[in-house]
Amino acid sequence: MTDRFLTHLPIGGPAVPFDGDGIPGWDTFPFDGDLAVKSLDPPVLPEPPRNGDDDPASCSVCRDGLSRAVWADEHWMLRHSGGPTAIPVVVLLCPIGHYDLSDLPPERAAEIGPMMQRVERAIMSVGGIARVHTQKIGDGAAHLHLWFMGRPAGLTQLRGSCLTLWDDVLPKQDEAQWRAVLAEVAAALAADGGTAHQSTAD
Ligand SMILES: [Zn+2]
Repeated sequence: MTDRFLTHLPIGGPAVPFDGDGIPGWDTFPFDGDLAVKSLDPPVLPEPPRNGDDDPASCSVCRDGLSRAVWADEHWMLRHSGGPTAIPVVVLLCPIGHYDLSDLPPERAAEIGPMMQRVERAIMSVGGIARVHTQKIGDGAAHLHLWFMGRPAGLTQLRGSCLTLWDDVLPKQDEAQWRAVLAEVAAALAADGGTAHQSTAD
């Protein structure tokens, strides 16, 4: 193994030692009890394709069309994450066209900043939300999707990068409330352009 990013790592070795420092020691870490770090698997190269990588016709975002969209205009849509969430809002901003960030046309790329600002403002407008987290990951799907997660006001234990983990483990809102909040976000966005949609859950 000669890759400069891998030579210092215990690939294929025993479980990684864990001294208890780091993220599991944070007040915001949602799990308690003894933890062990998994052993590190060898690299898989070439990596397996992401959804929509091999053939845009197989892209689930393109195939879904507006079925998950809570709001859309000519070039962008805001999708929900598939079903009720524990935290107030989890939505994804996607271009209508099948692009990742690196191949997004310049006109669309120039719209990302204003669109992110609009989405954050729309989420904050529902009230009871202290902060909106945003992420671009993209390991699962080739179609660009920017995550937006609204954190409930006052729940300081949910601050920071563990918010995703808390949303996974906490009880979910009932579907009626989840839909109502998404509709409020969509209406706030539509006030500045585009159309609110009645989306379907998975
Ligand atoms: Zn696509």
